Amino acid sequence: MARIVQKFGGTSVGDIARIKNVAKRVKAEVDRGNQVAVVVSAMSGVTNQLVAYCTEIAPLHDQHEYDAVVATGEQVTSGLLAIALQELGVPARSWAGWQLPITTDDAHGKARIMSIDGAGIIKRMEEGQVAVIAGFQGLGPDNRVTTLGRGGSDTTAVAVAAAVKADRCDIYTDVDGVYTTDPRIVPSARKLDKITYEEMLESASSGAKVLQTRSVEMAMKHHVRVQVLSSFSDAPGTLVCDEEEIVEKELVSGIAYSRDEAKVTLVGVEDHPGIAAGIFGPLAAANINVDMIVQNISHDGTTDITFTTTRTELDRALQVVKDNMKVPYKSLSSDKSVVKVSVIGVGMRSHAGVAQTMFKALADKNINIHVISTSEIKVSVLISEEYTELALRALHTAYGLDAA
Ligand code: ASP
Ligand code: MG
Repeated sequence: MARIVQKFGGTSVGDIARIKNVAKRVKAEVDRGNQVAVVVSAMSGVTNQLVAYCTEIAPLHDQHEYDAVVATGEQVTSGLLAIALQELGVPARSWAGWQLPITTDDAHGKARIMSIDGAGIIKRMEEGQVAVIAGFQGLGPDNRVTTLGRGGSDTTAVAVAAAVKADRCDIYTDVDGVYTTDPRIVPSARKLDKITYEEMLESASSGAKVLQTRSVEMAMKHHVRVQVLSSFSDAPGTLVCDEEEIVEKELVSGIAYSRDEAKVTLVGVEDHPGIAAGIFGPLAAANINVDMIVQNISHDGTTDITFTTTRTELDRALQVVKDNMKVPYKSLSSDKSVVKVSVIGVGMRSHAGVAQTMFKALADKNINIHVISTSEIKVSVLISEEYTELALRALHTAYGLDAA
């Protein structure tokens, strides 16, 4: 007997027929003699609709009420799946985040999980009942409902898997695994059998939408073995695991891209100690994520500072710069038509020249690079959005990733 957490994403529970299909998959796991907890997303499109309702009333709305609205999507699915399971003769009940509880910090709209009390569901699972948990939601210190940021059901699933000490966390989605890059753009992309936590973390934070970044952080921290697979086929998926489990390591395991990028430039900022702290402090206080940062050397005692944030947060970021910034600057500009392309691989740690291959491949296609950043296992560049497809294809070939 094993203890399994299964997670089904929005498209997997997109309509009633699909929810019934999911119930069959859950039942199959129960019939194998396993204890099962299921985490569900909202039916596809529902969260977007709920977000749109909030924005329609007020573009900058109260995040507490945003959470009250958007958390409802998952609640609907958890109840419906519990009913579908009961119809198949499988004992099941739904759980809202606050009922376990799953507690979070107070960052409404993108809260972090602080703790999960698994005792209640473990007891029921041991009695043979399937726990159907609404993903994406928790309970904040203010005793109000929080949500975990878009894609947050993945994080709920991994966190629940860690809390109940599950043998595996199966994430069912609309793709059958993790690919070398987006197969819709690069048809020669290949499915990976295994990928390390580190690589998965970098690809998730670089825009690959397969798993929410925080879910991978959580999996890495608690060594939860995560399998990504399709709810529409029986093909084996991709296992996200420790590096030691992977025998054949590739230099570069994948190329990710993110369109949710925006570039902000402050022109004519004075160049002396405390300036960067003065610029990024207020942004951090407003909970705005800043990703890439470049500062030029100063000529005339002033310099330009460019940073990137998400397109979603751009308006808030600009507002913070205009209203709260104590640091003087001459002018402010922003650009939403940029994408970040990242080359990722643990092999980079021990090989030189990986970045140069990227720069050369882009140069050969005449693609201009706006900003560059690197980590131990990643090189990212910011380029104009119109070159996304061209850049991905060129890089996929340059690193020898094309399927034979
Ligand atoms: N329903 C939420 C979203 O669309 C959470 C999730 O699906 O993971 O972002
Ligand atoms: Mg998702």
